[in-house]
Amino acid sequence: MEYLQPAIDIASCNLACGCDIKTNIANKSLCTGCGTCALACPTRAMTMIQGRPECNKDRCIKCGSCYQHCPRAWFPYERIKKEFNL
Ligand code: SF4
Ligand code: SF4
Repeated sequence: MEYLQPAIDIASCNLACGCDIKTNIANKSLCTGCGTCALACPTRAMTMIQGRPECNKDRCIKCGSCYQHCPRAWFPYERIKKEFNL
């Protein structure tokens, strides 16, 4: 069940917003520019501009889909730190 924990954490957060992508992924240099977040956005609030995600807050309905689908949102920091003794 450990692999489900990120989804459980996201589901328990009531602050889901397109800006999570900016704060937790792009601003931490984790974004690979894959565009999955923009494809996952049902309102087209999330778009890719020069290879980076941008959220139009006026269109965002705070569904969390972009963050849920981002492959880097699942980056297992704690597990990597533990396995490499960091
Ligand atoms: S509408 Fe949903 S998928 Fe689109 S930016 Fe907002 S939280 Fe992300
Ligand atoms: S899905 Fe994640 S890694 Fe891909 S462009 Fe969006 S923020 Fe970057």
